[in-house]
Amino acid sequence: MPLQIVHHPDYDAGFAVNHRFPMSKYPLLMEALRRRGLAEPEALATPEPAPAAWLRLAHAADYVGQVLACEVPEKIEREIGFPVGRRVSLRAQLATAGTMLAARLALKHGIACNAAGGSHHARRAQGAGFCTFNDVAVASLVLLAERAVENILVVDLDVHQGDGTADILKDEPRAFTFSMHGERNYPARKIASDFDIALPDGTGDAAYLDRLGAVLPELSAKRRWDIVFYNAGVDVHVEDRLGRLALSDEGLRSREAMVIKHFRMAGVPLCGVIGGGYSTDVPALAARHAILFEAAAAYA
Ligand SMILES: [Zn+2]
Repeated sequence: MPLQIVHHPDYDAGFAVNHRFPMSKYPLLMEALRRRGLAEPEALATPEPAPAAWLRLAHAADYVGQVLACEVPEKIEREIGFPVGRRVSLRAQLATAGTMLAARLALKHGIACNAAGGSHHARRAQGAGFCTFNDVAVASLVLLAERAVENILVVDLDVHQGDGTADILKDEPRAFTFSMHGERNYPARKIASDFDIALPDGTGDAAYLDRLGAVLPELSAKRRWDIVFYNAGVDVHVEDRLGRLALSDEGLRSREAMVIKHFRMAGVPLCGVIGGGYSTDVPALAARHAILFEAAAAYA
């Protein structure tokens, strides 16, 4: 069984190429995965848009209604970073359902990845920071509501702190949120996760991997996890336009291998999502996101 990859062509909402959010990374990531032989038909699964009932588990009902009707107030659209028109609304529903589907595939096969997702700045009340719906929080709450799992771990290694996920899951004792991020990166006002590690600018491969290697056993010692959601944001990379942590390609490769090996060797199902990555060189950015899938394929 090849690594199961969840994808939908409408993950790409077709922004202008010079938009601050590099939307073309989604089709380019799929191209990169095809070139690596990872996107054969038997490896791919396609989500349907997430039902409103799922979205309302994590988000305020009025906000969900606004996104589905493409009537998000301008003030919130400004916080999100783009207007929520028909394609952005559909994309948010598909990417959220994609993480849900990848989680189900991970529970079945041990590991699966969504070729989108990691929208961790979307809070309960509204979206923010290029995030419309919080896919990992929605999927977590759906799995808990269905009693498919009892203990969920979120490992968020995107360079930005996982404030939205922390906000949504703060009163849910069955989900534990961990974020390791750049101290000086967005958001300026962080919302505490269950466990946060803030790293200084320019941390680099060695110090980053040391810290991660020490913390993974701590996370595993807390509980017997039924699933881990892994946000593999590549904005930790030295060439990222927004990140401040200065990891190399090799550092990223070691990170993905370390996280995936750690949880798979312990028999914990892992659902990977791509998270953030911002670069004007979008093919290079897509190749960086592809590293998650290469590392995951070794454990499929
Ligand atoms: Zn980020």
